[in-house]
Amino acid sequence: MAKDADDLRAAVRSRGLRATPSRLAVLELLRASDAPMSHGEVADRLASQSWDRATIYRNLIDLADAGLVRRTDVGDHVWRFEARVPGDEHETAHPHFVCVECGSVECLPEAELAERRAQAPRAVKQRQVEVHVRGLCDACI
Ligand SMILES: [Zn+2]
Ligand SMILES: [Zn+2]
Repeated sequence: MAKDADDLRAAVRSRGLRATPSRLAVLELLRASDAPMSHGEVADRLASQSWDRATIYRNLIDLADAGLVRRTDVGDHVWRFEARVPGDEHETAHPHFVCVECGSVECLPEAELAERRAQAPRAVKQRQVEVHVRGLCDACI
């Protein structure tokens, strides 16, 4: 437990951010989550704390700007946030599954975007693309 807190603090400080309690809580929550979370979801989960939603939003943006968190728009114009894999600077974006019925979002394992990357557009080669798979989730099928 204490080691996790140290890890969080070290990760935040290594990016030049102050390790405020709210910032650490936001990062801890995202690291524990197996799906990207919107600002509203993060704020709801931390509602028992006294931080206001604007503070939590600023923390999300700060963590994203610092490279600790990735921002994803799965096509519904809602920013969702997920923690990047700690210590893996070259981690690439993975596809997301979006349920067209309930709007839930799940992470999918990274897939090869192009079999023959040499022939793909530069953005694909550099993995600067986002892949969203749409369909019905298990609960909605
Ligand atoms: Zn669903
Ligand atoms: Zn994801």
